[in-house]
Amino acid sequence: MPESKDGKHESAAGGRIVFRNANLLDGDHAARPGTTVCVRGERIESVEHDAAYQAKPGDEVYDLDGRTLMPGMVQTHFHSHFGAFGDGVRAPSLGLEAAPPYVSMLAAYNAGLCLDAGFTGAIGSSNAFTIDVSLKEAIQAGFVRGPRYLAGSHELVTTGEYSDYDNNRNYYMKLGDTGLTRKCDGPDEWALAGRTEAGRGCDVIKISAGPGHGSSPAREILYQTRAELHALVEAVHKLGKMVRAHAPSKISILECARAGVDIIDHADRIDDECVEAILENDCTVVPSMLWSERFLALAEPWDHDATPLPISEGFPETPDVARARIRAVRADYDYTCKAMPEAARAGVRMVVGDDYGTPIMPHGDYVPELELYVKTLGMPPLDVIRWATKNGAEAMRLGDQTGTIEAGKLADLVIVDGDPLVDIACLGIKENLRAILLGGRFTKNTLGLSPGRGASA
Ligand SMILES: [Zn+2]
Repeated sequence: MPESKDGKHESAAGGRIVFRNANLLDGDHAARPGTTVCVRGERIESVEHDAAYQAKPGDEVYDLDGRTLMPGMVQTHFHSHFGAFGDGVRAPSLGLEAAPPYVSMLAAYNAGLCLDAGFTGAIGSSNAFTIDVSLKEAIQAGFVRGPRYLAGSHELVTTGEYSDYDNNRNYYMKLGDTGLTRKCDGPDEWALAGRTEAGRGCDVIKISAGPGHGSSPAREILYQTRAELHALVEAVHKLGKMVRAHAPSKISILECARAGVDIIDHADRIDDECVEAILENDCTVVPSMLWSERFLALAEPWDHDATPLPISEGFPETPDVARARIRAVRADYDYTCKAMPEAARAGVRMVVGDDYGTPIMPHGDYVPELELYVKTLGMPPLDVIRWATKNGAEAMRLGDQTGTIEAGKLADLVIVDGDPLVDIACLGIKENLRAILLGGRFTKNTLGLSPGRGASA
């Protein structure tokens, strides 16, 4: 098989890559066994029944023997540099835990993990030093392995909120650089921050709209004034970029949706009124519920009297305060487990993605989130596949290019041992991912060519 200059396999010169006898999950519709998909160059040339396939000279043919062929997935909440620092267990929150070059290398490493997990697209969430812009450019230039990428920005925050790092709990540190966050107050500063981040090359401007999610209970607070929120969204949209918001409460969901925020992160406490505003403004929702589940699994059996829980909220908590917080998180989680499927059934565009890069949720291990939506929320597996593929591509605004398997679209494909509609967990076992293609090129290939039907020399 020829090697391109960046080391990725591509099809024999001018020939096609042909996948025969595939169990096709096209990212939208029910499975179609017995399907042949032909790839020419970076795009899908045809999707047809096996019987309709007509061999052409130079075809590189793989008999998938009933394996699943599906679109590459999209990780829509990607904190590129969260992960191992120093002792290998702490997760960074500021991005200042190590030197910027180290943090950048971690981001590059995580991008590779993401691709190897079958995710051919990703949308950045907040990051320090605007690393995401360089990460995106390095992937595009071909010397860093990673998915198609939309660069996230600093997290825009208001003075006095939970993550106002240089003014709140850490004011005494006199930080010269606030890492992950950038503070702005008043409509003019919010618009200026949006323009600045966009000008630096960020595609999606992240904001913190309210407190809560995962390890802390939702509180009905909106950090911004409406005028600040609207000034930001207007400024960012004028530049053709998107806004995403950490919005873990009813008021933050509602106000962000009404202001035209494109991606609503977390959306704990979503209700019918929120759903109406979300549908009206065509927002995408990232339920990101794995973090809450994993936190509760750690925190609920914890012996707080013996040792303080390592994931605390602000200053060290007394055991009783910690227990009350965990009960409130549980109430949020149980509520959201019921409300999120209802929102999905009402037509909200759901996608997958979560705060990976913490010890209980490492980068690259993304499929347990999909499992959670099937097993705990009771979502049909086909819906969750659609969240991970078609909807993710639409959230990236690449829905006309990728996210489903159709003639003319980019060949971002994953070939899997097993049927995700029977057990979605099969996607989480690396050995099951037999091949991954990004734009028609294999980034992984452990399939053997069909005997006698391989590329003609
Ligand atoms: Zn996040």
